[in-house]
Amino acid sequence: MIIFNARDLNKMARAAEEEYPQECCGLLVGRFENAVWEVKDIVPSKNVTPYDQGNRFEIDPITRLKLQKDLRDSPEEVIGHYHSHPDGAAIPSSIDKASIWERNMLWVIISVAKARTIEIVAHRVIEGSEELSFSPIEIHTINGLDPVGHSG
Ligand SMILES: [Zn+2]
Repeated sequence: MIIFNARDLNKMARAAEEEYPQECCGLLVGRFENAVWEVKDIVPSKNVTPYDQGNRFEIDPITRLKLQKDLRDSPEEVIGHYHSHPDGAAIPSSIDKASIWERNMLWVIISVAKARTIEIVAHRVIEGSEELSFSPIEIHTINGLDPVGHSG
C-alpha cells in the first residue's frame, strides 16, 4: 500500500493537466516502513528527455541530486517518481519497462486525456520471470478528498 495525502495527489493531477500534451514528471519523498510507503511530499522536475516529451520523460538529475542532498539529515528519502501519460492509460508503457534502473523506486503514472486527469495508479517494481516488471499497488488517500480533484 502507498499512502498519499490528497494535496499531493491533486498537485500531480494538476501538473499532468498543465504539461499536457507533454509528460510531466517529478519525485516522491517519504518513507518505507512495514511494507507501507508513505509519501510526505512531491517534488516536480522538468522533463529533460531529449526525445518526444509526449511519450517519454526523464527527471532532471540536478533536481534529484539537490533533493537527495537536502534529505541527507532527514528520515525521509526519495522513494519513487511520477509521470503522466497524455492520452494513455495509467499503466507502464514498454518504454517504462525498458527504463527500470532502480528496484526500490515506486512508479506513479497519471493518465490524462484532453488535459483532464483521468486516473492515478501506483506501481512497484517486481522480479518478472526474465526481467524486472511492474505490479500495481493500492493508493490510500488521507484527508478524504477526491484524489483527482475535479469538484466541478
Ligand atoms: Zn510512462
